[in-house]
Amino acid sequence: MNAIDTHKSDAPIFAADAFRLGDEEAALIDRARRFGARVLAPRAAKHDRDATFPIENFRDMHPEGLLAICIPKENGGLGASYRTYALAAAELGRYCGATALSWNMHVCSTLWTGALADDLEMSAAERTEHNTRRPAHYRRIVEQGAIYSQPFSEGGAAAAGAAAFGTEAKPVDGGFLVSGKKIFASLSGAADYYGILCTERAEGEAASRRNTLYLAVPAKADGVSVVGDWDPLGMRGTVSRTLLMKDVFVSESELLMPHGVYFRAATSWPHMFLTLSPTYMGLAQAAYDFTVAYLRGEAPGTPPVKRRMFPTKQIAVAEMRVMLEQTKALWFQAVSEARANPTKEQVLRAYAAQHTVMENANALAAKAIRSCGGQSMLKSLPLERIYRDSRCGSLMLPWTAEICLDRLGREALYEPGEKDE
Ligand SMILES: Cc1cc2nc3c(=O)[nH]c(=O)nc-3n(C[C@H](O)[C@H](O)[C@H](O)COP(=O)(O)OP(=O)(O)OC[C@H]3O[C@@H](n4cnc5c(N)ncnc54)[C@H](O)[C@@H]3O)c2cc1C
Repeated sequence: MNAIDTHKSDAPIFAADAFRLGDEEAALIDRARRFGARVLAPRAAKHDRDATFPIENFRDMHPEGLLAICIPKENGGLGASYRTYALAAAELGRYCGATALSWNMHVCSTLWTGALADDLEMSAAERTEHNTRRPAHYRRIVEQGAIYSQPFSEGGAAAAGAAAFGTEAKPVDGGFLVSGKKIFASLSGAADYYGILCTERAEGEAASRRNTLYLAVPAKADGVSVVGDWDPLGMRGTVSRTLLMKDVFVSESELLMPHGVYFRAATSWPHMFLTLSPTYMGLAQAAYDFTVAYLRGEAPGTPPVKRRMFPTKQIAVAEMRVMLEQTKALWFQAVSEARANPTKEQVLRAYAAQHTVMENANALAAKAIRSCGGQSMLKSLPLERIYRDSRCGSLMLPWTAEICLDRLGREALYEPGEKDE
């Protein structure tokens, strides 16, 4: 299988000058872009075809510092902000959607416990507890290249934020006994730690979302297993099989946030859920880039046949460019204003940005195939993979495209607590 693997000349998606990025921010994003073109692109087709996890990409990220991109500098990481991470992830998404999406699960376990947690209201005791506990997680990543994942989904209403998680943690001496099932557990079988969300519940206590625990379950712990097959439409390299946990003892030291703090994060830092979108921003750019190269007769792996002289192709590219620019502008604004306790306008914009990126990435890929024609959707070229991968974005909870529309409509028309007679 052949794939486009010469992306050396790709310009950054967000040019540093135009988008007023700082030097350090631009350099980090540049590092991700070069890594994506050099390392991810040549391997993407094989992992997509075989539905295998690109573990070697993660091994290669370690010496580049990319596994630790959001780990605070004082803990040995690169200390990237939310926005810097998002822009870097978009660059990786251009070259391998499955790696970028899996990387997102890993990085968020450090971003949410790092810069995002620093922004949350915590009591002095909670802050001390958190700051004492998190360095151990960071050390594993910085020193050993450990990989974390984020299996939250259970197939019920919990991942959408509408119910308590069915996976439960029963408090016992020194930790918890965890039991439950997670579906779509990206990095299953590859991660060293599964950063799960579960409900802390003592005997006889009612399940409550307020008691959500964010806990790192060691992959090798007794009672952990990965089951089922994985043969999906797209994002095949994420290997998102089903994770089962049966009376798994997890030490208290594996808490990724103190008791009750995850619930606070989910309610006061909503942009944390926009972190699934950067991968798809990158796929949107990739669909456009491919189309321009292909119609110019310059796409690697294709004969040098130019198709750009036809007015229909020019109009198609123009329409794609309009859609891409709209997507970039809205998304850049949304990731730039992520913060604790955002205004209502900022939250509505975040929903709009998520919806736009997820839907437009696939719309751009569909248009790319239609405009480039039959030869462009052969599996020897990356476009059909981009098309399939980009189809998955709108399905990702908690902010699926449908849920974004649902919330946008309701929250635009109703103030909190307002009811109709
Ligand atoms: C490639 C890929 C990788 C993934 N990786 C992970 C991962 O690493 N970790 C993880 O936790 N999950 C992951 N997911 C799972 C994903 O976030 C969803 O949980 C999963 O796709 C839900 O599938 P479902 O059919 O059970 O959805 P359902 O819960 O049945 O929902 C179906 C649709 O109904 C709508 N809906 C659901 N609930 C509501 C509601 N309360 N209000 C309004 N509308 C609603 C939504 O639009 C949703 O798309 C991944 C998914 C994909 C496709």
